Amino acid sequence: MAAAFDILLLGAGHAHVVVLRQWAAHSIKARRIALLSPSPYAWYSGMLPGLLAGHYRPEQCRIHLPPLCRAAGVEFIQGTLDILEADRKRVRLTDETWLQGQWLSVNTGSIPRLPECQRSSIEICPVKPFADFLLTVERWQKNPEPVAIIGGGAAGVELALALVHQTPSLALFCGGTLLRGHPPSLRTRALRHLRQRGIQVHEHCTADTLAGDKLMSGKQAVWQGNRVIMATGPAPLAWWQSSGLQCDRQGFIQSSATLQSPSHPHVFVTGDCAAIPNTPKNGVYAVRQGEVLANNLKRLFTRQPLVRFKPATSALALLADGQGGALMSWGPLTGEGRWAGRWKDFLDRRFIRHHSVDELI
Ligand SMILES: Cc1cc2nc3c(=O)[nH]c(=O)nc-3n(C[C@H](O)[C@H](O)[C@H](O)COP(=O)(O)OP(=O)(O)OC[C@H]3O[C@@H](n4cnc5c(N)ncnc54)[C@H](O)[C@@H]3O)c2cc1C
Repeated sequence: MAAAFDILLLGAGHAHVVVLRQWAAHSIKARRIALLSPSPYAWYSGMLPGLLAGHYRPEQCRIHLPPLCRAAGVEFIQGTLDILEADRKRVRLTDETWLQGQWLSVNTGSIPRLPECQRSSIEICPVKPFADFLLTVERWQKNPEPVAIIGGGAAGVELALALVHQTPSLALFCGGTLLRGHPPSLRTRALRHLRQRGIQVHEHCTADTLAGDKLMSGKQAVWQGNRVIMATGPAPLAWWQSSGLQCDRQGFIQSSATLQSPSHPHVFVTGDCAAIPNTPKNGVYAVRQGEVLANNLKRLFTRQPLVRFKPATSALALLADGQGGALMSWGPLTGEGRWAGRWKDFLDRRFIRHHSVDELI
């Protein structure tokens, strides 16, 4: 028989970590709540480029979940969701355990789109799951070889700048212009940094297929080597489609302003896996959704009306430059320097500190 909970928090994404933090301060009394996560740690993506560049140790970039859960009055279950049956309010884990929840909350993030492989010898390393990504890069660091990074968003740029000194050569491929969605002056600043550091930048070059030891853009070989990092941004996962939850045209799970599935209001959806109107998929927005989600899940049991998530029109972006500084954008404004690096470091460390249980006791 499936273990039954009032609320099942699925995945320890940014939004759920914020929920746990808020409940640790003001818990939901007398309810049975569990958090499901494959690992006892939640990695904080904002600090991973700094970790790879050698500015942080692993334990500074992750949140230890079991103590945080205890402080929040939530059971920690280590496991990986395999199937979600929205109609039956239950999930199956990869070890075939079933869990039942009166309310479900999905915050499992996403993984990057993978290229087509045609008898390829190239090792592909997606940036997520982070734990696997870090293990692969650690292995690569012992035996450096040329690397290509596919994806010219903030993550691709930061990773290129973090890893450039650890590889004999590094190429960055981007299907459109670099840093789309950010002000053009941020792209100009990033291009200068990338080129000064000897990184080959290929804009408007969709590297979509691996064939043998070559990276292909259509029929043209654009790079040759053995190691490719995929940083192409969120892509839909198969279990979302089969869950019965309403998805958008791209395959992301639809979520309303109250962060509920329109087809199954007993399921909340946040973070990268959610399609929320006018909301970019990144950590800053996932954190903000977490604040609304913590409140709404609590309101379910006091019969108060749910509050609405109102996405901000712009968010602060701070991209690590790999040398202790950062590039900054805020609306149309951009800047860069060591001051921005110190600002990013302060905000990132503060996030980890706020969600670490020592701080809460
Ligand atoms: C290198 C890099 C740097 C980035 N830097 C920034 C930044 O500075 N600022 C910013 O705003 N965004 C940044 N991003 C984007 C950011 O990482 C994502 O948008 C953000 O992590 C999304 O958070 P989330 O809440 O959706 O879930 P995530 O933080 O992705 O977490 C999902 C969690 O769910 C778990 N999970 C996954 N599958 C399952 C399953 N089947 N069962 C159970 N659990 C599961 C995972 O283990 C993970 O703990 C960066 C991304 C990368 C790759």
